[in-house]
Amino acid sequence: MTSEDVHPDVVSTGTLPRRELVEQLMQEAYDRYAGVDDGEVADYIPVLAQADPELFGLSIVSVAGASHSVGDALHEFSIQSVSKAFVFALVCDALGPESVLDAVGVNNTGLPFNSVMALELNGGSPMNPLVNAGALTTTSLALGETADEKWAFVHAGLSAFAGHPLVLDDKVYASEAAHNRRNQAIARLLESYGRIVHDPLEVTDVYTRQCSLRVSAKDLAVMGATLADGGVNPITGERVVDPAVCRYVLAALATSGLYERSGEWLFSIGLPGKSGVSGGIVTVVPGKGSLATFSPRLDAAGNSVRGGLATRFLSGALGLNLFASRPEPRTDSR
Ligand code: GLN
Repeated sequence: MTSEDVHPDVVSTGTLPRRELVEQLMQEAYDRYAGVDDGEVADYIPVLAQADPELFGLSIVSVAGASHSVGDALHEFSIQSVSKAFVFALVCDALGPESVLDAVGVNNTGLPFNSVMALELNGGSPMNPLVNAGALTTTSLALGETADEKWAFVHAGLSAFAGHPLVLDDKVYASEAAHNRRNQAIARLLESYGRIVHDPLEVTDVYTRQCSLRVSAKDLAVMGATLADGGVNPITGERVVDPAVCRYVLAALATSGLYERSGEWLFSIGLPGKSGVSGGIVTVVPGKGSLATFSPRLDAAGNSVRGGLATRFLSGALGLNLFASRPEPRTDSR
C-alpha cells in the first residue's frame, strides 16, 4: 500500500488570493517591468525577428475558470517551445508516463535547447522532453502511423488544452521550415541512436508545425490551468489528460522547463514553467491556476526577460512559491 492509497484526498495546495489582490498585483507587475528593455528578440528563425519587442502581456487563469489579463495578453504569437510541455503531456497520457520516461528522460542537460553535443554526451538520450531533441522524440511518439495522423493528434490535443481550435501561423511555419536544418540533424542523430523510429524529416516537420501554432498569453494561461487542474480544462470542462500525467509533466518542467536556467528559475520563483523563443512563458501553480506572460526580448538561454521578472514578482507577491511554507514579507527588489 502506498501513501497515496492511505490519503487519496489530501493534496498540499490552496487557492489563489482574492480577485482584487490578483488584479492589483498583476497591474503592479506590468507597471514595474514594462520599461525593461534587456535582452534580444530571437532572430535565428527569421520571421521571429519581426516581433514588436515592446509587446508585454500577462494573464492568470484559476482552476475555477476565473481569468484576469493585463497588457497585450490577447496578442497572438507562435507557441514555439511552450508546446513541448503539452505534447509531452498528451503522449504520456496516450502511452503511459513510464514508457515515455524511458524513451525521453527527465534530467536537465545543462546545455542550450538546441544542443547537439548534449545528445553525444549522453549516449543519444535526449535527457528531457523540453529541449529540442526530447521534443522531437516526444512528437515522434504521438499516436498515428503517418505524419498527418501524428499532426492531427498533436493539433487536437493542444487545441483541447487551449479550449478552442488553434490556428497554424503559415508565415512562421514557412520561415522555420526553411531554417530548421539543425532540428533535422538532431532528428537524424536521434534516429541513428534508435530514439526515433519514424522518418526523422517527417517528425521534424510535425514538430515545426506544432511550434507554429498561434496562441495568446491568455491561451497559455488556460493551457497551464488545465495542468494545474489535474488535466481538466477549467473553461471548457473537458478532461484533456489524466491527473497523474499532470504531476509528472510538472516535475519535468521543474527540472528543465527553462533549459539551463531551470535551477535559477526554481530557486527564485519556485514553480514549474515553460518558455519559448517567441517570448511566451507558462507557469503552473498546482491546484490553483496558471500565470502566462508574453514579451519577445529574451535572455541568453532563450527565456523572456520581462516574463521572468513579472513571474518572479507575482510568485512572491501572490504567495505561489511551492517551497514557501509560510507568508513572507514583500521585498521590493527588482
Ligand atoms: N521551434 C523552435 C526551435 O525548434 C523552438 C525553440 C524554442 O522555443 N526554444 O528551435
